Amino acid sequence: MVGAPSVVALPLRTRFRGITTRELALVEGPAGWGEFCPFVEYDDAEALSWWRCAREAAEDGWPAPVRERVEVNATVPAVGPEHAHRIVTASGARTAKVKVAEKGQDAGEDLARVEAVRDALGPDGRVRVDANGGWDVDGAVAAIWALARAAGGLEYVEQPCASVEELAAVRRRVDVPVAADESIRRAEDPLRVARAEAADVAVLKVAPLGGVRAALRVAERIGLPCVVSSAVESSVGLAAGLALAGALPELPFACGLGTADLLAADVVTASLHPVAGVLAVPRRPPAPDPDLLVTYAADPATRDRWTDRLRRVQGLA
Ligand SMILES: [Mg+2]
Repeated sequence: MVGAPSVVALPLRTRFRGITTRELALVEGPAGWGEFCPFVEYDDAEALSWWRCAREAAEDGWPAPVRERVEVNATVPAVGPEHAHRIVTASGARTAKVKVAEKGQDAGEDLARVEAVRDALGPDGRVRVDANGGWDVDGAVAAIWALARAAGGLEYVEQPCASVEELAAVRRRVDVPVAADESIRRAEDPLRVARAEAADVAVLKVAPLGGVRAALRVAERIGLPCVVSSAVESSVGLAAGLALAGALPELPFACGLGTADLLAADVVTASLHPVAGVLAVPRRPPAPDPDLLVTYAADPATRDRWTDRLRRVQGLA
């Protein structure tokens, strides 16, 4: 059993997914704190796996890790090249993930951003791009060739198109590895990308996959190299992602878990900010600071909406 939720609204530094505030609910159980943070547009059925992840953290705890530290990538939103350069330099990371195919921007802005990131990383760094399904197949093929040239090589391209069939078509036409994110996270069957030979890399997010143990089972069955990424959680939710990254038998990529910086505030005093591109794997979730829960408490209407949502989703479990 977990206690009553604490609902907070944390300001984002940069608009992300069209939002400027990250709303989430935190629950405490015998094993520690869990974070329930399905995006607001998700229905209760889709939110259920996010609850399973929060419940695992609060009630069961996590399996023992096989590594103590996880390398993370810098995350570069759809900002201008100078800003992109600053983000990468300040991060100390050796790998950067660059948002491309942003609505309202053109291909030239993507190329300039990627060139700036390569300049910041130097020749030994790794550049990956994430289109969030924003291209069609022909557009993806053209953009990937151009971006790979501008970046002096790409580690992989994440979700170039929306559908599994399109990913498979793109993958046959480019020599940059293709990573599947939304095709796993929002899929009825996360293993379909592997059967369709639609991806070289699987992006795993612990909350939409239902927790650390559930995500480990997906990783085992999907049979692709895996990378763990966040869903812009607070440090309580990020800790669950780190527990997954720490427990995966193989971890060949820097993970997208250094995202505490995307938030202008957190619920813990010692946020999980990477140091020189590395985060330690926690054994249990960090406890929120009671003062921060008050400072960033959601307004009453938002709190009631999340409390009702959580109650409904718990009823589905
Ligand atoms: Mg992605």
